[in-house]
Amino acid sequence: MSYLDFNIENKFSSQLPKDLEESIFPHQVHSAAFSWVTPKRTSNPQLIASSRDAAAMLGLSTEQLKSDEFLQLFTGNIVPEEFSPYAMCYGGHQFGHWAGQLGDGRAINLAEVNTPSYGHKVLQLKGAGPTPFSRTADGLAVLRSSVREFLCSEAMFHLGIPTTRALSLSLTGDSVVRDMFYNGNAKAELGAVVCRVSSSFMRFGSIELPAYRKDKALLKQLVDYSIKRDFPELLNEYADDPIQRYLAWFEEIAQRTCRLMVDWMRVGFVHGVMNTDNMSLIGETIDYGPYGWIDNFDLSWTPNTTDAQGKRYRFGKQGEISQWNLFQLANAIYPLIAESAPLETILNNYSKTYQQQWHAMMSNKLGITSEAINHKADTELFLALEILLGDIETDMTIFYRLLADFSYNEKVKENNFNHFADCFYLEEQLTIDHQSRFSLWLESYAHRIQQDGKTAEQRKAAMNKVNPKYVLRNYLAQQAIELAEQGDYSKLHELQKVLEKPYDEQIAFHHYSEKRPEWARNKAGCSMLSCSS
Ligand code: AMP
Ligand code: MG
Repeated sequence: MSYLDFNIENKFSSQLPKDLEESIFPHQVHSAAFSWVTPKRTSNPQLIASSRDAAAMLGLSTEQLKSDEFLQLFTGNIVPEEFSPYAMCYGGHQFGHWAGQLGDGRAINLAEVNTPSYGHKVLQLKGAGPTPFSRTADGLAVLRSSVREFLCSEAMFHLGIPTTRALSLSLTGDSVVRDMFYNGNAKAELGAVVCRVSSSFMRFGSIELPAYRKDKALLKQLVDYSIKRDFPELLNEYADDPIQRYLAWFEEIAQRTCRLMVDWMRVGFVHGVMNTDNMSLIGETIDYGPYGWIDNFDLSWTPNTTDAQGKRYRFGKQGEISQWNLFQLANAIYPLIAESAPLETILNNYSKTYQQQWHAMMSNKLGITSEAINHKADTELFLALEILLGDIETDMTIFYRLLADFSYNEKVKENNFNHFADCFYLEEQLTIDHQSRFSLWLESYAHRIQQDGKTAEQRKAAMNKVNPKYVLRNYLAQQAIELAEQGDYSKLHELQKVLEKPYDEQIAFHHYSEKRPEWARNKAGCSMLSCSS
């Protein structure tokens, strides 16, 4: 007997109240943080991808990862009693409106383990069958959305951005019916299960739900649990002052959320569904649904077809939306604090912190040292660049890598521009006017880096550490999906490998860094995605 030698430690389910209704029939779960559930058995599971790195974090060897026991455990076919799987209860604001109870409708926390070197981790199956929170849906997931979750969470980790991890991706052998664009064209797709891993899957919505229900006892239990589990330093620091402790907890969440948003802006990630049930309390990227990566820099772009009208979750609005989401979290914890001023202060500071961090991030992207004396002029330089990049279709990722290599030649002003030829999408947009504005910007940038005093090599090395060469371009994920649907996992595996070193040149894989091809411009899955998964 091995159960892969996990050190099981089910804290969430042993310390928080459980749903007393045992049926998985959809129901409102009151005065409880979770419901017991059992993953659905799968008919013919097959492991098609795994992360050795995530496995190592859990103390799993490569042999264990490849074993039949692993496959059976991580597709829900063997459920040891001590694992005690459960689904979490939470609510959330969806697209700006309170949506009531949501909960883990297609996620099952399989077990909580104490890892050898990375502390406490929760192993969660996504797509393992219905729970009391599934409402009218089936609790299952299809291959395409599972490939997207698997590849993107691992890519995000290797970019150095906080995220839930993905341990494994398996086919279930069962088919799942989905109407991908909600237009009456339902079809059977391949079912899949991803095992994701995090220290905590609690969301803003976990705290909002008891607050909306005026269940102050549960609200307090959940906040206390979050602090004890994920912010234990606050327990000592504010041992005798629970109100200050709650405020410090909220402030720390705001800080982490801010850093996350700035990181997303740095690499061109658009989450697509920043509902409060998709915001992690520990500041990780969570719930990879209809997300997308910026090809041509466009602050108004949203990958999510459900969001096409209002574009609430567009690229350039993520900072503002995260603040709106924090406002909802502040409202939710208000009963524990009973004073609004300190919460308002934290929320008001958020914009300032965001601006500061954005400024520092842009300075890093441009390879210049941020100093108070240049602050205002640099901000103008950054904003002018954003306008320039958005004016005509310019590939964001390629642009910054080219910029790292750029050296200004005073004698041939216009020709400086040629260095960037590879990052434009449409030749006809390259008007004389645009070229001259671009040249002017390059001139100001050249002055600025000269003043900064780094050598060309130093600047390039610094820039290439924050500007990835490889991101999970939407069309690349789609190509990997289409092949995987035919049983060919080669591209999925290759992409996973390339994205493990996103900042490295990796010449052999250069083609993965190229611009989105024209055929992908308006193709479903490449430029538009729905929540269907
Ligand atoms: P999401 O948009 O993925 O954050 O999901 C919003 C809510 O719908 C969450 O409560 C999910 O668990 C639930 N949900 C989404 N898809 C499914 C599904 N296929 N089966 C059951 N519940 C689902
Ligand atoms: Mg969600």
